[in-house]
Amino acid sequence: MAKIVVLGGSFGGLTAAFEIKRLLGKQADVTVVSDDDRFVFLPSLPWLIMGWRKPEDITLKVIEILKPKGIDFVHEAAKQVDADSSKVITSKGKELPYDFLVISTGPHLAFDEIPGLGPDKGYTACTFTLDHAVKTGATWKSVLENPGPIVLGSSQMVSCFGPSYELAFEIDSELRRRKMRHKIPILYLTSEPYLGHMGVGGLGASKTFMEHEFAERDIKPLVSQAIQEVAPGEIRLKDGNKIPFKLAMIAPPFKGVPAVAPLGNPRGFIPVDKNYRHPKHKNIFAIGVAMAIAPPEATPVPTGVPKTGFMTVKMAKIAAATIASDVTGKTPPVADDLGVVCLMDMGNTAALMKAYPVLPPRQSSYTKKAVWARWMKVGFEKYFLYKMKHGSSNWP
Ligand SMILES: Cc1cc2nc3c(=O)[nH]c(=O)nc-3n(C[C@H](O)[C@H](O)[C@H](O)COP(=O)(O)OP(=O)(O)OC[C@H]3O[C@@H](n4cnc5c(N)ncnc54)[C@H](O)[C@@H]3O)c2cc1C
Repeated sequence: MAKIVVLGGSFGGLTAAFEIKRLLGKQADVTVVSDDDRFVFLPSLPWLIMGWRKPEDITLKVIEILKPKGIDFVHEAAKQVDADSSKVITSKGKELPYDFLVISTGPHLAFDEIPGLGPDKGYTACTFTLDHAVKTGATWKSVLENPGPIVLGSSQMVSCFGPSYELAFEIDSELRRRKMRHKIPILYLTSEPYLGHMGVGGLGASKTFMEHEFAERDIKPLVSQAIQEVAPGEIRLKDGNKIPFKLAMIAPPFKGVPAVAPLGNPRGFIPVDKNYRHPKHKNIFAIGVAMAIAPPEATPVPTGVPKTGFMTVKMAKIAAATIASDVTGKTPPVADDLGVVCLMDMGNTAALMKAYPVLPPRQSSYTKKAVWARWMKVGFEKYFLYKMKHGSSNWP
């Protein structure tokens, strides 16, 4: 029986674990290791901040969804991967040997790279984890009672831009609904070289689309910006500019998680081939945010390439099928170029953004605004949570 250890209990880790078990059945002994015992549907965190979702609406208990599928769960952080002797060492000193390892540990949020950044040791709010989003929701409520300037956006080395755009549009829509938009200036601060770049050189006409929406909604953009430091109520930019805020939601720089970073590039993201296999350690696979994709172009302020949930699930399926073919001696799947499909909420409407492949030059790409895209986004949240709850990883 092949021993497979999966690090991470989210989009990539759970999909990979379910798929490996589905494809190999009794031939695979699968263990998921995660420092979080919950699966959180991260795309709904902006709605949670806005007060439109509660934590229990978007959270599943990992053990309850793995157990019925015969997959073991270790609720501990991986501390180290000993790739030469094929074992994972956990934070409590447990040693987990493996024949195959799948790494889907997501990002390490590197708040420490910018003094004063972040909700724990600094002065800015964050959207990227459930606990941070709950805290940010409370700050948002207090700004509604005591209005002041709001700043949203992404610092240097971010590789997930969508949530900041969504929140800018959602906050704008909510303030208009409450007839208080004129009391709160909104500034969008970003490392992107232009609006709608999103780390991938744009998607279709996303540049003009975002510029038009920002102008219509009176959201002030500030592009190609790097943050020097944050003080209470003030963001200090590297160009000397100072930006006051009552609420600042700034995405932090992304790095690879320390436990797996030694297998990766200088930022700790893990290089892989088209089947998500490590180039040196052939029994290690890396998927989702943990794997490395080089940016499509040099930008004045460095940005990273997003690996969306949609992309992560595709990667997990290819990695799982490749492991299954290694175990059974069959020919591995031929991996196609990755594409991306994204539904961006805009508060009162939404946009469907598509690109194939993810990086230019592309066969196709577009951005389209439509109210039905918002209904699709709500439907997708329910569908994906149902799919994860029942371990139906073979569904699209
Ligand atoms: C606010 C927000 C909105 C988003 N919106 C969208 C969207 O609309 N559409 C879309 O396609 N994508 C969206 N994304 C991106 C999507 O959520 C990610 O692509 C996806 O979560 C990546 O999955 P992952 O498994 O690579 O990493 P993550 O989801 O980050 O999961 C990492 C897992 O690893 C665990 N872990 C971390 N370190 C360790 C360790 N040392 N040991 C063990 N376990 C560890 C974590 O607890 C977690 O379970 C959004 C992301 C955020 C944050």
